[in-house]
Amino acid sequence: MVTGRFAPSPTGPLHMGSLVAALASWLDARAAGGRWLLRMEDLDRARCEPGAAQAILRTLERLGLTWDGDVVWQSRRTQVYELFLEKLKPHTYWCACSRREIADSSLGLAADGAQIYPGTCRDGLQPGRTRRALRIRTENDAIGFDDRVQGPQSQVLSRDVGDFVVYRTDGVVSYQLAVVVDDAQQGVTDVVRGADLLDSTARQIHLQRRLGLPTPRYLHVPAVLNAAGEKLSKQTDAAPLAGSPDELRAALAFLGQRATNLDEALRAWNPALIPRRRAAALPR
Ligand SMILES: [Zn+2]
Repeated sequence: MVTGRFAPSPTGPLHMGSLVAALASWLDARAAGGRWLLRMEDLDRARCEPGAAQAILRTLERLGLTWDGDVVWQSRRTQVYELFLEKLKPHTYWCACSRREIADSSLGLAADGAQIYPGTCRDGLQPGRTRRALRIRTENDAIGFDDRVQGPQSQVLSRDVGDFVVYRTDGVVSYQLAVVVDDAQQGVTDVVRGADLLDSTARQIHLQRRLGLPTPRYLHVPAVLNAAGEKLSKQTDAAPLAGSPDELRAALAFLGQRATNLDEALRAWNPALIPRRRAAALPR
């Protein structure tokens, strides 16, 4: 069965960028007669804001974006992630590098702005060095996938990202690993999300392959930019949404859909109309 999901981080209220992703995912799953699941990505407790998760859920309800089953909370699933981390162990190694050391030895910046890790600790740690993070080995072969909106994508992880972190010794499993485990365990067939996560996809496919998990289909909608050309987020003071019909209309227009309400949009859902761009401003 077609299964979609919306997986917000409860770092603040729903804004237009997250609504666009939620709406596209909801329409895509519901138009296929499928399920739509909700997951709170609240692993990074320091970034979460009290009450934000409940506020997001209320706004979705007001907009008519109903979900199936119980909301899944990542913060309650650490034991599951640890199990998968154990399965991943043969493909990982301990890294002792500090942020400073990585910046000094980096091969450059990855597409998401992170330092490309040069594999310093691949062959084992020098005596006296402290384990800071567990990294998964990446390969020189390209990982490709066909995004339903953005088209064919390809990344050589060893060159474009470097061996990446799956776990930190302060007890936090990486975002990439948690997403891959959750999508597989929830039976997600179609990941529909913002294009700011396009560059994470190859890493997630690499993890799926190492763990023997299926790869879902991917559809990345353009990220929403504010008037200054910045991606909407808590950091750029994105306006919180009230869950009004106007907001829904604006999100539908952004997605290139001609419908002006949810029922119409569901009947006429056409992902081919979504602009094939990584980011775009809201239509005036
Ligand atoms: Zn290292």
